[in-house]
Parts: sequence; structure tokens; C-alpha cells
Amino acid sequence: LAKAKGRASYCFYEPSQMDSAFAELVLEGQLVQAIERDEFVLYFQPQVAAGNGDLIGAEALLRWQHPQRGLIGPDAFIDVAERHRLMLDLGAWVMRAAALQARAWHLRGIAPVRIAVNLSRMEFRLDGFAELVAKVLRELEVPGEWLELELTERMLMDEIASAPATLAALRALGLTVSVDDFGTGYTSLAHLTRLPLDKLKIDQSFVAPLPADQGAAAIVRAVIQMAAGLGLQVSAEGVRTPVQRQLLVEWGCDGLQGEMIGEPMSVQAFEHWLAQRAR
Ligand code: C2E
Ligand code: MG
Ligand code: MG
Ligand code: MG
Repeated sequence: LAKAKGRASYCFYEPSQMDSAFAELVLEGQLVQAIERDEFVLYFQPQVAAGNGDLIGAEALLRWQHPQRGLIGPDAFIDVAERHRLMLDLGAWVMRAAALQARAWHLRGIAPVRIAVNLSRMEFRLDGFAELVAKVLRELEVPGEWLELELTERMLMDEIASAPATLAALRALGLTVSVDDFGTGYTSLAHLTRLPLDKLKIDQSFVAPLPADQGAAAIVRAVIQMAAGLGLQVSAEGVRTPVQRQLLVEWGCDGLQGEMIGEPMSVQAFEHWLAQRAR
């Protein structure tokens, strides 16, 4: 046993770990290249008003258009990008691309489409992040009202000292600030009342088990009521069935997003979807 142990200490990585460490290194290199080669695209998922079904916005969701492997979703590379600080470059690209798309749609009268951008913790942690956003908006001549930023509870709590000032600065630019995946994190409710926020997005894990799951129903209703009490907007993610939509409308949810409304789509598909709806 001692011998086996001694030998093991020479080997820093288990073979399986070595594989994944190596795989991560390869992926990191490919991501750097992908940024240079402009292989990333944004997909857009519609968000509608629960009451009348009017389009209120679209969430920008990052995709990697890999030359061999096709379209790759963010779960396959966001974590690696975060660990290697690539996320700052990628996040900056997303912000610009979203702002440009917002402008393109507004100029063509495809409006009002407020585009929601997912932030990474690395971006939100940056000193002067709000100034960076202001600079992008100024450069691209895009009013803050055209963009929404989605942050997770975790990001807010990790940066609780600086978050209030950063959020206030972003809102002063006209941006909407939303808490994504709400209910899955560990936001202290006391903090929630003090942070300058606009919207809660109820995580899809609470919407998916509706209508059967009484517990999920209780949570969704409670979040909707709490948001109303705090003067926040509230929307639901992952709406997949007419029954789910109906319940959310009944309970007073403001916004809906999910397959039932529309899947994440390329710009072209999104415009097609919109045109079909208008008829
Ligand atoms: P998210 O922000 O919570 O986005 C919602 C995810 O749920 C998206 O997955 C979307 O495609 C999926 N979804 C939407 N409607 C439904 C539905 O009805 N049923 C089900 N089962 N799923 C639905 P996606 O695009 O794979 O994105 C995953 C996560 O990656 C996002 O979760 C977000 O946290 C992150 N992400 C995406 N784009 C970006 C980005 O540009 N920057 C950063 N930092 N993170 C991003
Ligand atoms: Mg999101
Ligand atoms: Mg979410
Ligand atoms: Mg998420």
C-alpha cells in the first residue's frame, strides 16, 4: 500500500484528470481561435407580455458556430472561458453584438425589442464595468433602454459590496437589470430589498414541473407576489405548455419566455417568427 501511495505521489494527475485537463487546454486554444475567426453568433429567444402576448424583448444566447462540429451551446464552453479569463473578451463581443442587433432592429422598426444579455461573473466583477458598458453604448449610439442585463443571484451575492453602486450606474444608463435563474441561488431576501433591481426571472426548474407539482406552484406564486410587493417585474423561463402559460398569466406573471412562445433562433429565424405572428 505504502509503495502504491509513494508511486501515486509522482503522478500529479490521475489519467482521467489528465485527459480532462488536456481537453480543457485544447478547448481554451480553440476558443481563442474562435474569437479571432469570428465563429460566435447570438441566437435570440423571444420574451412576451403575459397579458396580451406582445413581444417585449429577446434574450441573446451565445452559440459557437464550429466549422466541424456545428452549433455548440454555451454550457459546453462558458465554464472554460471563465476559468481562463477569455470570458472578458467573449462577454465584450456579446455586448457589442447585442447592441448592434438592437440598433439594427430599431432602425428597421422591429421594435420595441429590448435585448437581454447574460453577464458572466468575471465581467460583473470588473472595476468600472458600468463605464465600460457606457462606452460601448456611446460608441454604437445605442440607448441603454434597448438593453437588459441578466445577472445570477450568485454574482450579486459575491459582489455584494460593489453591486449596489454598479447596478445603480447601469440603471442610470437606462438599462434594465434582471436576476436570472431566480430561486436557484442563495440571495438573502434582506439584500434583495436593498439592491437596485428591475426584474426577477423565475428559473425554469420551477416552471417545468407545473401544473402537477404543488411545491413548485407554491414557489412560483410566492415569487410573483414577492416581486409585486417589491415593485419588481417578474417573468418566467422555460414555459413549455399552454397550461403552464395559462397558470402564469392567472398568477400575475408579467413576462413569459420558453419553447411555448418561441425557441432561441438565429436572427433570420427570429425575424421570420415575428413576421408570421404579425399576420
Ligand atoms: P439562461 O440565461 O438561464 O438561458 C436560458 C436557457 O434555457 C437557454 O439555454 C435556453 O435555450 C434554454 N431554454 C429556453 N426555453 C426553454 C424551454 O422551454 N425549455 C428548456 N428545457 N430550455 C429552454 P442555452 O442557450 O443553452 O444557455 C444556457 C446558459 O448559458 C444560459 O442560461 C446562460 O446562463 C448561459 N449563457 C448563454 N449565453 C451567454 C452569454 O452570452 N454570456 C454568458 N455569460 N452566459 C451565457
Ligand atoms: Mg439568461
Ligand atoms: Mg435562466
Ligand atoms: Mg442559466
